[in-house]
Amino acid sequence: MTQPSPTATTGPSPAPGAGAAPGAGAPTRVLVLNSGSSSVKYQLLDMKDGGRLALGLVERIGEETSRLVHTPLLGGGGEKREKHGPIADHAAALKAVAEELAADGLGLDSPELAVIGHRVVHGGLRFTEPTVIDDAVLAEIERLVPVAPLHNPANLTGIRTAMSLRPDLPQVAVFDTAFHTTMPEWAARYAIDVETADAHRIRRYGFHGTSHAYVSRETARLLGKAPEEVNVIVLHLGNGASASAVAGGRCVDTSMGLTPLEGLVMGTRSGDIDPAVTFHLMRNADMSAEDVDVLLNKRSGLVGLCGDNDMREIRRRIDEGDARAALAFDIYVHRLKKYIGAYYAVLGRVDAVAFTAGVGENAAPVREAAVAGLEELGLAVDAGLNAERSDEARIVSPEYARVAVAVVPTDEELEIARQSYALVSGLAGEA
Ligand code: ADP
Repeated sequence: MTQPSPTATTGPSPAPGAGAAPGAGAPTRVLVLNSGSSSVKYQLLDMKDGGRLALGLVERIGEETSRLVHTPLLGGGGEKREKHGPIADHAAALKAVAEELAADGLGLDSPELAVIGHRVVHGGLRFTEPTVIDDAVLAEIERLVPVAPLHNPANLTGIRTAMSLRPDLPQVAVFDTAFHTTMPEWAARYAIDVETADAHRIRRYGFHGTSHAYVSRETARLLGKAPEEVNVIVLHLGNGASASAVAGGRCVDTSMGLTPLEGLVMGTRSGDIDPAVTFHLMRNADMSAEDVDVLLNKRSGLVGLCGDNDMREIRRRIDEGDARAALAFDIYVHRLKKYIGAYYAVLGRVDAVAFTAGVGENAAPVREAAVAGLEELGLAVDAGLNAERSDEARIVSPEYARVAVAVVPTDEELEIARQSYALVSGLAGEA
């Protein structure tokens, strides 16, 4: 299969070897769908310029209190529209989305729609690139359900629903794991019995790959360099959080593993923990595997440590002298600093440390504390630059610092749209 360039820097680009860009009049719109177990987030983009035409979400699918929020953005945008009332399933949700888009003159039946791009969480080792979805691809995503039981079934439902609405249109899967498939074996393997690991496909896959790919490339752009020329540590700090070491545009290590539980301290997840904690609790605390799963995924991390998982609230409590909130913050930052140090060693030379996602983009105190004391490694933030608020990618380290500290807003939807469009316009060029 022809693959899109993973290192395209701006705008849509056809797949290598695909010939010229699609001709004038070829469809250029991409619908990006991110289907969760009870929600669908969507954006419609036009790859002529990467601009957004509409975005929205449907949440609480299957409940009485479902809600659709639609924001038209075409021609300067319009009023946000909200609809409340039961939406039974993903098929009904997508139909409701299609109606909202049609009301803005952007219906799914439009000949200007080139492709639907789907976020798929787990692509295992097989999917190293965005992939046009057919029956074999659907079957493989299904086969990966045991390693992504929460996410892949929801992603599949979204894909099947979209396929039934526009069976004639190419649908592309963009995998959260794909960017990490370049990790060398010594980073990807756990040090456990090889036969057991292979029999159960246990290895480190990594997640948030679309964001790590986008942010590492944008960081290179910010430095005025090609992705191949720079080594970047990317810190994606949202509710889920992960770090990656990116050498010359390729991921060489990342903090999430078999599942998104490993690594950094997160909003509700523990991150790294001695695995013996699991069987200790099962043997001594009358907890089942399911109970421990819920503890580590839902009742740990910042929320487990101090009762709050929103960094804004934690900072507010610290300002009021709350010791539990302060300790939670310190544990969060300590783990972050350990990963910066580890990935510095993995990369050998680091050009930039890039902060992204809700916490990374907004929480100046986290950025400051994470690099505090690392001057010997060439890392520092400029207090004034770090405190400035902006939606733009920017450098917040002082000029003298050897390593740039960057704040780079992530844009997973744009990245999914670019990759999906690049793939199908490449295919169209070959036809
Ligand atoms: P996800 O996509 O993983 O749900 P986001 O990337 O949207 O998460 O990040 C959400 C988190 O970002 C919130 O839980 C909160 O901790 C943090 N956050 C958002 N805005 C701010 C802010 N202004 N200051 C500090 N933290 C913020």
